[in-house]
Amino acid sequence: MFSVKTLIRYAAILLACAAPIVSLAAQDTASTPAVSQQIPAGAPRLIVAISIDQFSSDIFAQYRQRFTGGFARLTQGAVFPAGFQSHAATETCPGHSTILTGNRPAHTGIIANSWIDQSVTTGPKVVYCAEDVSKRTAGSKDYVASSVHLLVPTLGEWMKKANPAARNIAVSGKDRGALMMGGRDIDQVYWWKGKQFVTLAGREPGPSAVAQNAEIDKLMAKGAPAFPLPAWCGRNDRAVQAGSATVGTGRFALKAGEADQFRVSPRLDRATLDLASKLVDEQKLGKNPVPDILSVSLSATDYVGHATGTEGAEMCIQLTQLDLALGDFFASLDKRGIDYAVVLTADHGGFDMPERLHQQALEMSARVGPAVSPEALSATLGKKYGLEPKGLILSDGPSGDYWLRRDLDPGTKGKLVDDAKALLEADPQVEVVLSAAEIAATPMPTAPPESWTLAERARASYNPLHSGDFLVFLKRGVVPIPTARPGYVATHGSPWDYDRRVPILFWRKGMTGFEQPSGVETVDIAPSLAALIGLKTPQGAFDGRCLDLDGGAANTCGVMTK
Ligand SMILES: [Zn+2]
Repeated sequence: MFSVKTLIRYAAILLACAAPIVSLAAQDTASTPAVSQQIPAGAPRLIVAISIDQFSSDIFAQYRQRFTGGFARLTQGAVFPAGFQSHAATETCPGHSTILTGNRPAHTGIIANSWIDQSVTTGPKVVYCAEDVSKRTAGSKDYVASSVHLLVPTLGEWMKKANPAARNIAVSGKDRGALMMGGRDIDQVYWWKGKQFVTLAGREPGPSAVAQNAEIDKLMAKGAPAFPLPAWCGRNDRAVQAGSATVGTGRFALKAGEADQFRVSPRLDRATLDLASKLVDEQKLGKNPVPDILSVSLSATDYVGHATGTEGAEMCIQLTQLDLALGDFFASLDKRGIDYAVVLTADHGGFDMPERLHQQALEMSARVGPAVSPEALSATLGKKYGLEPKGLILSDGPSGDYWLRRDLDPGTKGKLVDDAKALLEADPQVEVVLSAAEIAATPMPTAPPESWTLAERARASYNPLHSGDFLVFLKRGVVPIPTARPGYVATHGSPWDYDRRVPILFWRKGMTGFEQPSGVETVDIAPSLAALIGLKTPQGAFDGRCLDLDGGAANTCGVMTK
C-alpha cells in the first residue's frame, strides 16, 4: 500500500523520534501497554473538555473583558492565554486530534482535514480525515464517518482501558470534532449533519438526541428573530465587500426552514450544549463509580469566521451568545451537584479577510493568486518534462501538502520537487517550500512552541503515512482563498501564530486561579487531566507535559510518572 520510499522514511522517523510511539500499538487490545488508575480522594467525577472551533488567542484577548457568562467563569481558573496548536497544519481535524490524545499530528496521523491517497480505488483520491475509505460505495457522494485514521488513543479511551465503567461521550457541530476528541472506543457520539444530530453508522440515536432533534425541528419550522447587537459590538458593525459577499453587519435572523442559517449561527452551539446537557442525565455522567469524560466541540465560531471573518458584528454577537450558552450549561451541571473539571481550548486560531484587513492597517494581507496551485504547477512541469499534466501534481488547496503522481521514478520525483520548490519560492506570496525529506530530517522540537522554526512546525504535523511529497507555506497574511464568495471569505490553516495560538482555560469549583502568559501546548491538556484523576499511562504515551493546575504550593501533577 505504501511505497518503499515512504516506508524507509517512516522507519527513519521512528528511529529519529525521541519519544517511543507506544501509541501505534495501543489500538490493538492484545498489545495495549499497561495503564492503571488510582483515583485520588477529591478527584473530579466528570471531565468536560470543550473545543471552540477557530477561537484564537486574538479574539479571546479582544473580548475577554466583555464576558459575563461561561467564559467569565473559566477566566477565574488556570488561564493560559498563549496555548499553542504548535504544528503547522492548523486545521480542524489535526487540531482536535491533539487536544485529548496529548499527541501532535505527527503521531496522531491526522496531518490535515484531507489528504491525497493514490492507492484509493473507489471514488476520488482525496481522503477526508474522519472517513472510513474502506466503506466507500461507488457513485455515492456521502461517506462513512469514522475515527479509523486516528493512530493514538484519546484520554477517554485510556480511561476506559483503566476502568471499563468510565463513560466516554462526545458531541459536536462537526463529525471530525466529536470523533477526534472521543476516539474509537466511544460510548455515545453525535454531530450535526444537515438538519439534525446523527451518530455512527449502525447505531441508533438515543433518547437525548431524538429529543434534541425534535426541539430543533420545531425551531427550524418556525424561524427565529435576529440577535441583539451588544453595545460593545457597535464599532464592528460596518459592511465590507469581499468578492460577491457583503459581510460585517449580520444579526443571524433565522428564516423558517433554512437549515444552513441555523448552522452558521449561535443557535448551533446552544443546541450542541443542550444535547450535551441531556446526555449528562441520560448517561448519569459524574454520578458513576469512576470519573467520566464529556467532549463538546462547538463549531459555530468557525462557521461564522469562515462566512463573515473575525472582526465584524457577526463574530461579536457569536461570542456574546456563546458566552451566555456556556454559562447556562455550567449552571445546569451545578444544579445537578456534579463535581466536574473543565478545560476549554480551540482546534486552531483564525485570521480576518484581506478586504477588511486592508482598511485596518494590514495592507500587506492578500488573497492567494492563481500561480500557486497544483494545476498551474502540473501544466508548467508537465510541459518541461513531457509528462501528462493531468494528475501530475495533486493537493487539497493552494497551501499545505502537495503530492506527485505515485508511479513516477524516484529520479523524476526528485527533479519535480526541486523544480516546484524553485518555481514556487520565486512567487512573492510564497514563504518557503519544504520537501518531505527536509521535514523528516528535522528533529521533533522540544523548545517552547513560540520559538519553533517553520520546519519544526511542519515536523510536528508530518506523518509519512499521510503527508505529501512537499509542503507549501504562504507568506504571513496571504489567505489561501483565491476568490471570496458568500459563506467563505476568511480561513485558517497557516503555520503563523494567528492560526497556532489558542487560549487554554482550566476551571474547577474552588480552585486557586492564576494566569501563565508563557507558551504551552494543547498536547499538554491530556497529561494534565490524566493526573487530576490519577490515571497512569505508559511512558511516552503523550507528546505533551503535565501542567500543574494548582496556583499554590500543591502540585496536581504529583501522581504522574512523566
Ligand atoms: Zn476548526
